[in-house]
Amino acid sequence: MQLIPALLPSLIQAIDHVIEANAEEVTALDQAIGDGDHVTNLQRGIKALTAQSDELAKLDWPTAWQKIGMTMMTAVGGASGSLYGTLFVAMSKAARERPLDLQVFAEIFGSGVDAVKQRGKADAGEKTMLDVLIPVAASLRQAAEDSVALPVALENVARTAIAGMESTRDMLATKGRASFLEERSRGHIDAGAKTSQLMVCALVDVLAKQLTTPA
Ligand code: ADP
Ligand code: MG
Repeated sequence: MQLIPALLPSLIQAIDHVIEANAEEVTALDQAIGDGDHVTNLQRGIKALTAQSDELAKLDWPTAWQKIGMTMMTAVGGASGSLYGTLFVAMSKAARERPLDLQVFAEIFGSGVDAVKQRGKADAGEKTMLDVLIPVAASLRQAAEDSVALPVALENVARTAIAGMESTRDMLATKGRASFLEERSRGHIDAGAKTSQLMVCALVDVLAKQLTTPA
């Protein structure tokens, strides 16, 4: 399978569908320990990306990631807007003039996640989207190191994202609005971790289907 920007419209559509399908559940999570706007914030960004998707499909990856990052920054708002914006802009900066294979993507995604950590001054274990993004980056790196087959790498990524999302339930929030609740933040999954997991799994699904579809 060639990972090309022409896949972007179907990737964006899959994200749109999965966030829509889980909107109520995620809003309830964000109402429990945040201010309840996370889904609306994300959906503004997804709508803007959908409007740009034909244009994005014609770009090379670094240009597409830069544009996606800028759109997320301006359209999403909230803490998550600048964090997702940072992720994609940093991925664009880390891009190489090499075909996008698993190893190259793992490096680029890892750089993006490091930039999110710096931007939000946060790390794993603080009950945020990073509890999904950091293990996913590690899973990609491990898969590249072990040269595992792409379908297996994708399965591992999806499993890792779900485990990361679940792990936020019992964590104490130390970053973002949920941290204001201190001990009361425990017992609820973090909304941003949930949407990150949903989006990662939706992307994995599209890519896995692409692998089994003859070109
Ligand atoms: P806001 O909290 O400004 O209303 P959103 O509701 O859109 O923004 O996003 C909230 C999500 O952002 C949280 O659930 C959490 O996953 C993530 N988040 C908040 N602060 C940070 C941070 N410093 N680092 C990483 N992720 C964060
Ligand atoms: Mg919010």
